[in-house]
Amino acid sequence: MPRSVTKVNGIHYKTKQPVTIHIEHGRIQSLHPLDAEIRQAALPWVAPGLVDLQINGYFGADFNTIPIAEGAVERATRGLWRQGVTTYFPTVITNGDAEIEQAMRSIAAACAADPVSAAAAPGIHLEGPFISPEDGPRGAHDRSFTKAPDWPLFQRWQEAAQGRIKIVTLSPEWPGSAEFIERCVEQGVIVSIGHTAASPEQIAEAVQAGARMSTHLGNGAHLSLPRHPNYIWEQLSRDELAACVIADGFHLPDSVLKVTLRAKGEKALLVSDAVYLSGMEPGLYENHIGGRVVLTPEGRLHLAEHPGLLAGSAQLLPWGISHLLDSGLAELDTAWEMASLRPSALLNLPSQSGLAPGAPADLVLFELKRPQGVKIIQTYKLGERVFDSASPAKEANA
Ligand SMILES: [Zn+2]
Repeated sequence: MPRSVTKVNGIHYKTKQPVTIHIEHGRIQSLHPLDAEIRQAALPWVAPGLVDLQINGYFGADFNTIPIAEGAVERATRGLWRQGVTTYFPTVITNGDAEIEQAMRSIAAACAADPVSAAAAPGIHLEGPFISPEDGPRGAHDRSFTKAPDWPLFQRWQEAAQGRIKIVTLSPEWPGSAEFIERCVEQGVIVSIGHTAASPEQIAEAVQAGARMSTHLGNGAHLSLPRHPNYIWEQLSRDELAACVIADGFHLPDSVLKVTLRAKGEKALLVSDAVYLSGMEPGLYENHIGGRVVLTPEGRLHLAEHPGLLAGSAQLLPWGISHLLDSGLAELDTAWEMASLRPSALLNLPSQSGLAPGAPADLVLFELKRPQGVKIIQTYKLGERVFDSASPAKEANA
């Protein structure tokens, strides 16, 4: 149970002023400037908890090895606290119909049995199978399971998920996409365009039908494209679409990140797309998404047979924030909000109000070092300290 009252001191990530945050019943009660005496001390930064819309697994807990192992959701939820992630969307990718249904059932059951996971995972991201079958756009997804959007099938999965599917990544290149998107919107599900080979007209139609996001824009694409028009320009130019990017330094060159950030403004978001190998040792791994994958010592994850094709990311949001800071692509407040308030706002989560009275006390204390970047010191979920770098062993038993 969250402690009834506590307080947290830190340098506000946005105002850069020392503040005390008072917490009551898991919510931020008030913020006050710190008095001069305490200001002398070296304080960590304080910022809203990180929100990741695309997590395939963490530290061996995999949401895409079916059946999902007992305890995987609980382990990922608690492991992610080390990374400052207080909210995440378990992501299930293209697979057989029965396997997806089983995955949905498992995640829903885990959330029903564990209130901590339920609070951390407000929804599931279904990435596929209604994506492009083409090599390149489908990335590491299994071609044999790709198919046109199918509403009755989606309803079966949504039922298995107990209504928890909140994001669907699809390609509008399939016939019937617009109608499917409209029904998702009616059901309050965010439709994201991704793993697509759609024409500009099909993308326009999808936006018209209510698509509001692009999944890891610039990845899950052909290695070569017509200079214009193409589906990347088209999504960049549509102001209705928020764009998720993987800013790990491997998935996109800095020039592409810069253009995406400029084009999307407040609608540019960070995701990790972290796979279950994140946090593991470098090496060769067997993976259900497209066979064998290699995790390099530098943290890059690629298909063993096609080193040019990435197979998801092994780095979490603090790494992406650090990359944006290091490369000069964003200031701290912007980079942090790309990975917290902005995704919260898109999903209409209570955490969207950030460090404000009434907001859930999902907080991160961190240090900023060059060149190592963001180092998480403490993580708070609903006012409870769930990770402390000074006593990580205690957290492991939480
Ligand atoms: Zn993907």
